[in-house]
Amino acid sequence: MNWDALLEPLTRLCIGVPRRAEPLRRHTTLRVGGPAALFYKTRALEEFARISLWAHQHAVPLFIMGHGSNILVSDKGLHALVVYNACQRMDIGVETYAETGVAFRDVFLKTAQAGLSGLEFAVGIPGTLGGALVSNAGAYRSNIADLLIELDLVAEGVRMRVPPEWMEFSYRDSRLRRPNAPPTSLLAVRMRLQPDCRRAILQRAREFQRQRILKQPPESSAGSFFKNVYDRALAERIPNLPAPMRAAGVVPAGYLIEACGLKGYTVGGASVSRKHANFLINRGWATARDFEHLAQHIERVVYETYGVLLEREVLRVGDWNGEANMP
Ligand SMILES: Cc1cc2nc3c(=O)[nH]c(=O)nc-3n(C[C@H](O)[C@H](O)[C@H](O)COP(=O)(O)OP(=O)(O)OC[C@H]3O[C@@H](n4cnc5c(N)ncnc54)[C@H](O)[C@@H]3O)c2cc1C
Repeated sequence: MNWDALLEPLTRLCIGVPRRAEPLRRHTTLRVGGPAALFYKTRALEEFARISLWAHQHAVPLFIMGHGSNILVSDKGLHALVVYNACQRMDIGVETYAETGVAFRDVFLKTAQAGLSGLEFAVGIPGTLGGALVSNAGAYRSNIADLLIELDLVAEGVRMRVPPEWMEFSYRDSRLRRPNAPPTSLLAVRMRLQPDCRRAILQRAREFQRQRILKQPPESSAGSFFKNVYDRALAERIPNLPAPMRAAGVVPAGYLIEACGLKGYTVGGASVSRKHANFLINRGWATARDFEHLAQHIERVVYETYGVLLEREVLRVGDWNGEANMP
């Protein structure tokens, strides 16, 4: 693809100025990732929609980026037009409208201030509402999918409004995470919230935040790297698993990784956090390759020890040609 030639027609569509070869490590919480072929930050919903339609019409690979808190971008970068979504308009009410570039935490804060409950779990989750939708983000037994009424999106070059079922949500998953997902830009959503006492809402959120601070390492990470495992037989076998988890048949990935003795395990500048074994942290000089090799090592050891294939929560994106295989 001739990216230089695309710059001029794209610029005509945009309010601001698209850039060539923007380093994506500046925009990811893992602080790794090579350049985007083209990069543009949009703040206007109609512009976002227009660019998405244009990319489809001209067969330009498009990657929508929120705050980069759930992606591992390769060191070679992304051969795509990367649109950084900063569309942030909200209309707060029992039916709240929000554009997907708004920080997930801000959707909680604004709705809580208006005495609306439902998003308390979002208080410590970094990232945008759009990123939250793609992975059905959640915590403390609540998920974003449960609140949705309708989504406004562009899929395969068509702008449409769809019900939540269109997304095929399940635990930390939607159709947009799957291989061969329809290229989709999530533009805005409508959500249903419950009126409640403001003080009670903030109290619940504060308690969630307190638990989070105790558990999470402060270093650069992408949150939980692997998904929890739902397997009753396995839950019986893991030493020191808290009783409620054993009863529910769920084994947090961190317990498996820790039980394999991998806390602190390091590849280059990437380590398994000693505070929380499901957090892979950047010690300051990690490359995407370090993270990938660390993740593959964890997958192999956990499989050899427990016969479990861990599934990744963090999405691997970009050009991994010749990069991914461990020596
Ligand atoms: C410290 C820490 C704690 C975390 N805790 C949690 C937690 O408790 N629960 C949880 O679920 N997650 C958690 N996460 C993971 C992450 O924050 C969430 O998945 C978040 O919702 C991702 O949003 P983002 O904007 O950063 O998405 P990005 O990382 O930018 O993108 C993720 C994916 O979504 C796609 N995408 C983003 N926006 C759009 C859009 N508008 N249209 C189409 N596709 C889009 C991207 O293309 C990419 O495939 C945590 C992360 C960190 C760093």
